[in-house]
Amino acid sequence: MEALERWLEITTGAHYGVGVSNGLDALRLILEGYKVLGRLREGDGVIVPGNTYIASVLAISQAGMHPILVDPAPLTMNLSAAGITAGIKRGAKAVMTVHLYGRVAWDEEMNSLARSQGLIVVEDAAQAIGAKGGCIAGDAAAISFYPTKNLGALGDGGAVVTSDPELAKAVRALANYGSDSRYHNIYTGMNCRLDPIQAAMIMAKTPDLPAANERRRERAELYTRLIENDAVITPNHPDDRLCHVWHQYVVRVPRHRNDFRLYLADNSVGSDIHYAVPPHRQPCYSHMVWPDLPVTGQLADEIVSLPISDCTTLDDVRDIAAIINQFDPKAL
Ligand SMILES: *Cc1c(COP(=O)(O)O)cnc(C)c1O
Repeated sequence: MEALERWLEITTGAHYGVGVSNGLDALRLILEGYKVLGRLREGDGVIVPGNTYIASVLAISQAGMHPILVDPAPLTMNLSAAGITAGIKRGAKAVMTVHLYGRVAWDEEMNSLARSQGLIVVEDAAQAIGAKGGCIAGDAAAISFYPTKNLGALGDGGAVVTSDPELAKAVRALANYGSDSRYHNIYTGMNCRLDPIQAAMIMAKTPDLPAANERRRERAELYTRLIENDAVITPNHPDDRLCHVWHQYVVRVPRHRNDFRLYLADNSVGSDIHYAVPPHRQPCYSHMVWPDLPVTGQLADEIVSLPISDCTTLDDVRDIAAIINQFDPKAL
């Protein structure tokens, strides 16, 4: 456990790594930590992009706070300064940026906006471990070691990283029944400990993480170079290629997505949608009033994730690109 926490500190540049049970708990513990420190309160608004995985939003509502959903930028499919501005107008006290698909969703403009308003910045880095600039942009970041993530355990696992000693202490206590020393409970905490067996599994895989992320970059860059089809929009790449670890490679197929996915399936190419139903359209949130989120809605209708894990070789990528280039919606 200590070895993994030290590795997290070295890898992210944050001063403290705290292993916890999973990514959702990591996000929740960060928000609960700010609550016990008196820096956030129940009912506070937290900006979060509408196209994120539901865990980001669940963490906010489970901490008794209010998710301020905003549209992502269409090009990056991630939170932008415009989203933060919209959220500030709605009274936000914090921002949860999500490095969705592995792309770091933070820049100078977002940072100065958030800082000038005194917003607390939380990063959902569940999909972005090892991305340059992720896990250090904010005040605290949540990591997931779920098996499908870029650094996966054999079961659930997660971590909080932060350079704030008070928050690190609060999170560590909250995750362990709220106790700061043995049988001494300062908070009504939870049990969100990381299983030491999972910590050992993760640790064994850490030496390969930079190379594993580089393999994903190679696949992503090859897809983008080879895919040429007017019906398919390839994803935008960041200027600094190290700022993306390609947890997913997500194309957009604006007019023929269902046909496209059926065509891929007919050609033995798996595909998926991350995520088909955005959090605000889930039944669990149907009692709440949400703003219009046109970009979020449009992305949910157009996105398709292509295979990019280590199970997909570079030759597979070449084959899949060739198959995609022959997709002809008019011929269907
Ligand atoms: C996976 C994921 C989470 C939650 O992590 P778990 O370890 O599965 O709880 C949170 N946010 C995002 C963006 C994720 O992809």
